[in-house]
Amino acid sequence: MTRTVYLNGDYLPETEAKVSIFDRGFLMADGVYEVTSVLDGKLIDFDGHCARLARSLRELDMAAPCSDADLLAAHRELVRLNDITDGMIYLQVTRGNPGDRDFAYPGPEVTPTLVMFTQDKPGLADNPAAKTGWRVISVPDVRWGRRDIKTTQLLYPSMAKMMAKAAKVDDSWFVEDGVVTEGTSNNAYIIKGNRIITRHLSNDILHGITRAAVLRFAAEAQMEVEERPFTVAEAQKADEAFITSASAFVMPVVEVDGVAVGSGTVGATVTRLREIYLEEMRRAAI
Ligand code: PMP
Repeated sequence: MTRTVYLNGDYLPETEAKVSIFDRGFLMADGVYEVTSVLDGKLIDFDGHCARLARSLRELDMAAPCSDADLLAAHRELVRLNDITDGMIYLQVTRGNPGDRDFAYPGPEVTPTLVMFTQDKPGLADNPAAKTGWRVISVPDVRWGRRDIKTTQLLYPSMAKMMAKAAKVDDSWFVEDGVVTEGTSNNAYIIKGNRIITRHLSNDILHGITRAAVLRFAAEAQMEVEERPFTVAEAQKADEAFITSASAFVMPVVEVDGVAVGSGTVGATVTRLREIYLEEMRRAAI
């Protein structure tokens, strides 16, 4: 089926949606993005993604392409037009097309480019990997210093995903100054006893929308939450480990750099956190 995608106010067949070669998203990776999951035809944590998009745009002095209400309407229309039950909506805003290449930002006469498309993933929440868990390797974190802004500069995360593939594992965890920052496209956690440990928020990591929800649910379930960096050695000695992201939700991690975490199988706490997250988020979906 040909997808219907969104480009600057229009709904078009994917083959007809065209962006200029001078668009700064293409030439400079001068763009930000969001990925919102769809379960049962409804949007998961849409307000959280909208708020982070606004923050990313603000941090880059980029104009908002439209109101949050318009974004919500466009998300819903894409779900309807593409008949999505489970999947994701990808949204990207770039600084637009100044008609030439220049390092300096263009003035306000250049309007942002707004692109959205659906990714159909039937059974997204029933990913069999949640039963077996991911294996990860650690790789040096050589990304830039504003990882809190969700930019489309994803070359190094792509390289790290290829390093994971070459090592025949599922993902890479970035390590900087001897401690884990985050995964290629997710936040990283370990569990020790009744305590969840995950890196504190700063410019060093993306402020995950799933992270915020999971930490809230963990606290409500009487778990202790400690926000601080941890090492690979600490992860290898933890009882359980996991990652979170908008499309993987809560995904167990059972091995780090070839060493089993805990029993080497998916533990009870992470299983419970995934269940709580999916249940609560389905309930609040719009
Ligand atoms: N860190 C990075 C580097 C990411 O790319 C992502 C996913 N976009 C996350 C964390 C998780 O964020 P979220 O829960 O909002 O998907």
